Amino acid sequence: IVKYTGVTKSFGDLQVLKGIDLEMQPGEKVAVIGPSGSGKTTLGRMLMTLEEPTEGTIELDGELLWHTHEKGELVRAGEKHLHRMRSNVGMIFQHFNLFPHMNVLRNVTEAPRKVLGLSKEEAEERAVSMLGKVGLADKLKMYPSNLSGGQKQRVAIARALVMRPKVMVFDEVTSALDPELVGEVLEVIREIAEEGEMAMMLITHEMDFAKEIADRVIFGAEGRIVEQGTPEEIFDNPKSDRLQSFLQRFR
Ligand code: ATP
Repeated sequence: IVKYTGVTKSFGDLQVLKGIDLEMQPGEKVAVIGPSGSGKTTLGRMLMTLEEPTEGTIELDGELLWHTHEKGELVRAGEKHLHRMRSNVGMIFQHFNLFPHMNVLRNVTEAPRKVLGLSKEEAEERAVSMLGKVGLADKLKMYPSNLSGGQKQRVAIARALVMRPKVMVFDEVTSALDPELVGEVLEVIREIAEEGEMAMMLITHEMDFAKEIADRVIFGAEGRIVEQGTPEEIFDNPKSDRLQSFLQRFR
C-alpha cells in the first residue's frame, strides 16, 4: 500500500533522510522507532504530502505520489490526482491540531463534507459513529479548549478515521499527554489496530506498545533504517550496537 524507494530529504545543508526503502502491505502495522531527530516525523509527513522528498519515489496504493525524474527533477502527482490520493492517508500529530473555533462534531465532519462531498447528514452520521468508537459520544458540542489532552487526541483520531483512509500515520501521539492520559489514547489505537483493515505507521517512543501492536518494527538512526524485523527480533534480539544502546535507555 506504501512504498518508499531511495527517498532522501534535506533541509538546507542538513540531510535528514539518507536513502529510505520501505514497503508497507495493506493492513500492516509498522512501528517506527529511533532517537530524536532521526527523521521519523519527516518520513510520515512526506506520505501526507506535508513535506516533499529531495530525491526518490513514494507510491501510495500503487500510484506515484512523488518521484524523481530521470533528469533528477522531483515530480509530484497532479493536483486532482493528489487530492484523491491524499484522502487515503490520515495523520495524527503530537499536538492534536484540532480547529479551535469548531466544536467536536464540526471538527470531525469538516473534511468528509469538504473533501469527500458528503451531505451534512451523511457526514454527521459517520462522525457520530466514529466519536462513539473513541468514547466521546457525549462531547459532540464541546469545544477543544474544554477537553483534556487525551480527549483532544481521541477527537483527532476520530477526525482522521472518518475519512476511512487506507493508511494512518500516528506521530508520537501520546508524547504531549500527561502520563495518566496516555492509556486511554493507546487503548483507542489498540482497538483500531485490532479491526485490522487499515495499514498503520506508528512513530513512537512507547516501546511496550510498539511491541504489542506492530507486525514489524523499524529502527532508524541518522536518516537510515538500521535494523528491521518482528517485535521479537527487534526488542528481544537486537543485532546492531546502535539498537542495543538505544533500547538500553528504555530498560
Ligand atoms: P523526534 O523524535 O524528536 O520527533 P524525528 O526522528 O521525528 O525526531 P524529525 O522531526 O523528522 O525527527 O526531524 C529530523 C531533523 O530534521 C531534525 O534535526 C529537525 O530539526 C530537522 N527538521 C525537521 N523539519 C524541518 C524543517 N521544516 N526545517 C528545517 N529542519 C527541519
